[in-house]
Amino acid sequence: MLDTPARASGRTSSWQQPSRVARVIDTLRVAPGTSPELALRATTADLGLGDEDAARSIRRELLHRLADLQERLYAESTRAVLLILQGLDASGKDGVIRSVFTGVNPLGMRVASFRVPTETERAHDYLWRIHAALPPRGTIGVFNRSHYEDVVAVRLHSLAPEDVWRRRPGHIREFERMLTDSGTAIVKVFLDVSKEEQRVRFQERIDDPAKRWKFRKDDLEVRRRFEEYVAAWDEVIAETSTDWAPWHVVPADRNWVKSTAVATLLVDVLERLDPKLPDPEPGLEGMVIA
Ligand code: AMP
Ligand code: MG
Repeated sequence: MLDTPARASGRTSSWQQPSRVARVIDTLRVAPGTSPELALRATTADLGLGDEDAARSIRRELLHRLADLQERLYAESTRAVLLILQGLDASGKDGVIRSVFTGVNPLGMRVASFRVPTETERAHDYLWRIHAALPPRGTIGVFNRSHYEDVVAVRLHSLAPEDVWRRRPGHIREFERMLTDSGTAIVKVFLDVSKEEQRVRFQERIDDPAKRWKFRKDDLEVRRRFEEYVAAWDEVIAETSTDWAPWHVVPADRNWVKSTAVATLLVDVLERLDPKLPDPEPGLEGMVIA
């Protein structure tokens, strides 16, 4: 799948011009101190990609760059990247992980999915399990859900009193600052799916026996409160989009848009890190093994 690098067609190269990519990222990024205004954003935006075929060839090229950058990150072994993926049910978090990391060496990756905390996890502070799952130096970590559930899910399900979850965005800002100060670059993505597209995907899960395992009746309770969830995400994103760990709202009704957008964000952060292969031991050049 990855062995035929797309030679930049006119269209591909123009979408990937640095100034254009910077503009796209800028439209996705939530400026610190501002609200993402999720309810006003178009979940079907195509970000100028055009169509699925164009997006596929752009993505193929991005995945090649990602594989190369990841290899250098691993060899350099001094810094890490953390991708935090959030989104309502059926926003496509799993699908993004599958399509963006095809071709990345599993040795340099770590994916953690966060569910309702276990009894052991609940016996600790809420960042304990998060901290333990962070990517070590040299690797890319993906959080499929994250500590943000400790604000939003806890709030919506009344799992802790308001004065407890209200203080968490403040902890999280500082926690993420400590991580970036320690060499972990953080990219936060909210996959923005519409209520109608969620209905379509839920229906698919019910109708397709191969997908049915993904659906739980509880999902309908969350769906019933769709607008409340969106409002809670609006608030927490506004409180935690920072210069050091910015949020990006990615339109998620179309799979090819969201995968290409997330790949773009990752390649961008890795290119800015610009990991370098370590210097080899001196005297190796020209050496012949007997
Ligand atoms: P899934 O991603 O479909 O496996 O669902 C995981 C579920 O765990 C979601 O309903 C989340 O809201 C829930 N969850 C994850 N983290 C927490 C948390 N810290 N507190 C409460 N619920 C959580
Ligand atoms: Mg689910």
